[in-house]
Parts: sequence; structure tokens; C-alpha cells
Amino acid sequence: MPIFWLCLIVSTIISAASERASGTTIDSGSTILACAAVLLCWAGVHRLVAAYAALRVDEGRWSAATAERFVDGWLPRLRWTWLPINALLLSVGQFAALAADHPVLVHSLTLHAAWLLLPSFVAMGWSIHCGDELQRYLAQKHRWFAVPTGLRSLWTESGWIVAPLVAVLLTMDLIGLITGVPGQELSSGWLALLIVVMPLLMPWLMSRVWRTASVKRFNEYQWLDELRAASGVRGVAFHVWPTGGRLSTAAAIGFVPGARLVLLTDGALIRLPRAQLSMVALHELAHLKRWHMPLRLAALLPGWGLAAVLAYFIFPAIPWLPLPLQGPLALTIGLGSGLWLLRWVSHATELDADREACRLALQVAKQVSSIPDSQSEAARQLAAALDTLTAGAPRARRRTWFHPSIDDRLAALLRIA
Ligand SMILES: [Zn+2]
Repeated sequence: MPIFWLCLIVSTIISAASERASGTTIDSGSTILACAAVLLCWAGVHRLVAAYAALRVDEGRWSAATAERFVDGWLPRLRWTWLPINALLLSVGQFAALAADHPVLVHSLTLHAAWLLLPSFVAMGWSIHCGDELQRYLAQKHRWFAVPTGLRSLWTESGWIVAPLVAVLLTMDLIGLITGVPGQELSSGWLALLIVVMPLLMPWLMSRVWRTASVKRFNEYQWLDELRAASGVRGVAFHVWPTGGRLSTAAAIGFVPGARLVLLTDGALIRLPRAQLSMVALHELAHLKRWHMPLRLAALLPGWGLAAVLAYFIFPAIPWLPLPLQGPLALTIGLGSGLWLLRWVSHATELDADREACRLALQVAKQVSSIPDSQSEAARQLAAALDTLTAGAPRARRRTWFHPSIDDRLAALLRIA
């Protein structure tokens, strides 16, 4: 869920920045108490969802698969609700203002950011932990309240965005120490730097965190590099992503030429015959060729714009709307509408990548052997690959916020074939 983490970090920065202006006195005791209460409710709701699913299985009413589907459906939905909760906690709850006045935090951007993100990481860690724990419980009747395993998953999910954030903030703190200019005064500078550096660093970081390796290191997958060259998409490398055979998928990461990766998991490489694998690889290249990632990020911009217009021009003109509610309300409406637009763009670009992959196949087949050499054959092979990759994984076949369902994609491919 890279988009979720990006939204979380950006909305945290905006909530914290919008708070600065207010300048009211803060009761730190009640602020921390409110934060603890919110997190306790959050933990309770998650525990309830997992416990309900486990209870249904124990009663023999649900199969383990049904219970997993139920929890897999609820946890991501709950996770998105954290964004407005967090925005309220930081602004109305004055959690951000507490850091702005703190004698220690005010001197270090790194510690300041750690403070602002603390509630979110506790909440997300707990959410991941509850999902993991239910799976363990279903697999081996493990007791509840086992040792948390959420931390590792939390790092896997968020390390790519947290690591560069911490690196930039530590650098700014260091510059502040050396030059004597307080880091806080450089804050708009680091934000701009982060936005520029992020797309460049992200693929490199993900390849480190997930321990991927170039396909050039494997004799049997050299042809994938030939396919990449023949596709005409420049500045991208194919990497194998080792997951112990757990994951069968592929992903394109980054969008700046020279700092882009297409990851193919070991599960996909083992399970797919060459013609199908080539179509999956071409689908990912199509995402890069057609600039789908920047398009998806740009889809979030109108939402932020709407939030700004509401917060600065429309809401202040409504006399009955209390001032402390205006910012969070604008943020919630802006973020919500941005996410709806992103959903539409994500679905459209996914189908577009399928179509473009079939066109690319014709071009590549002239130079690389065993690649589907007609649009209809390409569409059939891609459809077969989608079927193979998601066989026995009903959750991967369903429509999600960012992906059309496999059935929708197969129907679109059938029209080509
Ligand atoms: Zn795709």
C-alpha cells in the first residue's frame, strides 16, 4: 500500500503545519490522555474484528478462508479511516502543537517528526499485528497475545518512505548543528528536497529492503533483459524479488528514468511459462512507458487543491462553522475526493497497461523468441497469466480500491482476443 503511506506522511505534515498558526495554550496532560484513548479504541476495534472472525471459525460457522477474507476486507478499510482520525488528533487534539512548543523536540526535526508519526506507527503496527495474529491462530490454534510480529511487516511496508524521511531529517539536523541555523527554519526546504529525492531513492530503497537482485545474475532469465531492451522502454532494470515462493506477483516501482525497477517475485518466475511471464513483464513496462505512476500521484493533487480552497476561502466565510473544525473538515473532504479520483485513475490505467502490453508484444516478438506475436495471442497469454497468478487466492482476484477485479481485466482482454 505505498499510496496509503504517502497519504499518511503528507497528511501528517499538512496537519502539523496548519496547526502552527493557532497559538492557543495547550494542556499537555489531556492531549496525551486523548491520544491514548483514541489508540485504545483503535486497538479494541481491531481486536474485536479478529476475535469475531476467530469465534466464527471456532463455532464451525466459518471456514478459515472465510475468516481471513472477512479480516482482509476490514483491516484496509479501518486503515484508511486512520487518516482523518490522525488529522483530528494532530490538529484539534493539539498533539502537533505539543511538539511545536516542546523544549527538546523544537531543536530536532528528526525527533519532531518521530513524535508526530508515533500515534500512526503504533496504530498501523497494531493493525498489521492483528491480521498476522489471526492467521497464526487459524494455522496452529496459537494463543492470543503472542509476541508482536507486526514490527517486521511494518518495516517492510513503510521502510521505503520512512528511511529517506529519516535520512533527510537527520541531514537537516546535522546542517543545523554545523551552521547554527535551527532546523525548523529550513523546514520548507527539507519538504521540497524530500519531494524531489523521494522518487529517485524509492526504487533503490525498496530493492534494499526486499533484497532483490538483477535478472542479469540469473542465466535462465537473461531473456527478460532482452525483452526489456526490445520494448524500447529505457532507464529501467528487471529484478528478482525473493519471497520464499510466498508471493506470485510483479510490480513497477519509481517513475524517473534511470531510477525505475520492475520487480518479479520468485513465485511468479517459477509458476509462469515463458509466454505468460513475458506478458506480465510487458504489463509492468507498459505502466512505465505510459507514465501511469506520476498520473496516479497527480490524481491526488485536485483533492489537496480542494482542501486548500475549502480551508482558506469557503469555510472561513461560513459563520456557524467552528474554527477548529474547518481545517480537519477541509482535509477530510479533500483527501476523500482525491482518493475517489485516484481510484478511477488506478482502474483505468490498469486496463490501459493490459492493452499496451498486447501492443508491445508485437514489437518485442520481432527480436525475442517465444513471445506472443499477435495481439489476440498476447491477450490470451496475459489472461492465462492472470489466472495462474491468482488461482487459489480469491483475495487477489477481487476488486480493490486501486485494482479492477481479475474478472474485469479478463473480460477486457477477451475483447482484444
Ligand atoms: Zn498493473
